[in-house]
Amino acid sequence: TATAIEVGLGARAYRIHIGAGLLARAGGLLAPLLGRPSTVIVTDRNVADAHLDSLRASLAAAGIAAEAIVLEPGEASKSFAGYARLCEDLLDHRLDRHDMIVAFGGGVVGDLAGFAAATLKRGIRFAQIPTTLLAQVDSSVGGKTGINTRHGKNLVGAFHQPDLVIADTAVLATLPRRELLAGYAEVVKYGLLGDAAFFGWLEQQGRDMLDGDQDALARAVARSCEMKAEIVAADERETGRRALLNLGHTFGHALEAELGYDGRLLHGEGVAVGLHLAFALSARLGLAPAADADRIAAHLRAVGLPASPAGLLGPDCDGARLYGHMTQDKKARDGRIGFILANGIGHAFQTDDVAAETVRAFLDD
Ligand code: NAD
Ligand code: ZN
Repeated sequence: TATAIEVGLGARAYRIHIGAGLLARAGGLLAPLLGRPSTVIVTDRNVADAHLDSLRASLAAAGIAAEAIVLEPGEASKSFAGYARLCEDLLDHRLDRHDMIVAFGGGVVGDLAGFAAATLKRGIRFAQIPTTLLAQVDSSVGGKTGINTRHGKNLVGAFHQPDLVIADTAVLATLPRRELLAGYAEVVKYGLLGDAAFFGWLEQQGRDMLDGDQDALARAVARSCEMKAEIVAADERETGRRALLNLGHTFGHALEAELGYDGRLLHGEGVAVGLHLAFALSARLGLAPAADADRIAAHLRAVGLPASPAGLLGPDCDGARLYGHMTQDKKARDGRIGFILANGIGHAFQTDDVAAETVRAFLDD
């Protein structure tokens, strides 16, 4: 049981295939798109250990010759040095301008291989086979690719759409639970920003899904991709609706900045707390019912995600410090912080006129 979502229009349209066991069909899905029957797979060691043989077998069965470039797992690979090495390695394989490479991994592999594809020979095609929940619901959709710099994450990059996305929910079985949960925070985000019924469904099915229920996983990935694709299509260059995807991220990024990027806090864990705080602040401002914020916190905690900064942060971290991180965020303009607030679950909107004092006082509580 697989579903496909059509993204974009005309010549740039591509499909996201979603379902359990799709890796076995990757060769068949890829073959018609290739100019010649060969490709290069970019992956990382964890994904290679668990799933590269299956992907190779599927490609071989479709008559596709595949070589693999295996990266060190982790954010450090998404660097200038990692990018240079990957481009040289890809060029070693004598890629043609019409060839397609396959990004097989989480967001790190997808962002890096996508950026290499965007720039190698001024742009070659690529397919995404995302293997983390975060990559399946977020980073593989929307066309953002890039690398980190010493000034911050994702500051060098390009928009480059894939030609094909294959999200096999079965590969998530080998993903560490903490990573699965971090991706789940982004799934919850979609419900909270624009689909209250989806959030209600997650309250019922979320736990089964995290325990590996394949139908529930496929349905959640599909709904998430559908929402992201629709928002991104409405707004390819991030001016209006695309900002809604940052729900929970203003607070989340501040927590990440405070705790450092060394694994103490995963991005999705920061987002989980941020989602709750965005609704708590909305309630404080009289925009949303306080009961909505409570419902969100209850669900996040029920699945094992954090919902509030207490416990994550030490005693010496106050509202002013977190607020300071927010004004440093790359999305803040002239010190004005863009917030995504809500009029209730499923009804998020963007605003940049929340008074600094209000936010600081809110964070101090
Ligand atoms: P990741 O790619 O680092 O993967 C997390 C960990 O899981 C890694 O250790 C990886 O080796 C391992 N792993 C991946 N799939 C596995 C599997 N099936 N089984 C076992 N282990 C597996 O992290 P991520 O959370 O997928 O992605 C984070 C990155 O995505 C960040 O760099 C972030 O900036 C980027 N991102 C990009 C976008 C975008 O729009 N392009 C959106 C959100 C996030
Ligand atoms: Zn995010």
